[in-house]
Amino acid sequence: MTTVYGPDHEPAAWLRALETARLEAMRAEGVPLDGSADVVTTLRDPSLATSWGRWCSRCQVQVPANESLSGLVTTPLPGVVLAGALCPACAVAETADASASAATGTA
Ligand SMILES: [Zn+2]
Repeated sequence: MTTVYGPDHEPAAWLRALETARLEAMRAEGVPLDGSADVVTTLRDPSLATSWGRWCSRCQVQVPANESLSGLVTTPLPGVVLAGALCPACAVAETADASASAATGTA
């Protein structure tokens, strides 16, 4: 399962914080974020990673190989795609949060 958020999605605080930090780091590196190039990269700044592995973007817990890791794709700006992952508990929580937001939006 992969959760995909487009530019119109209002991100949760944890996701907004990760997106903001990543965009700021890329701006500092001179990555074009004006839509002139497609930018596809990790949600978490790779220079901050202490190790490569199966990390949950939301709770930052390493997910064992025998547990499922769900994809998370967010598009904070047009042409900018950030990829992360969610542990089983966070995948359920995010789906519930998204459903609650959708339900609120249609109420
Ligand atoms: Zn998690």
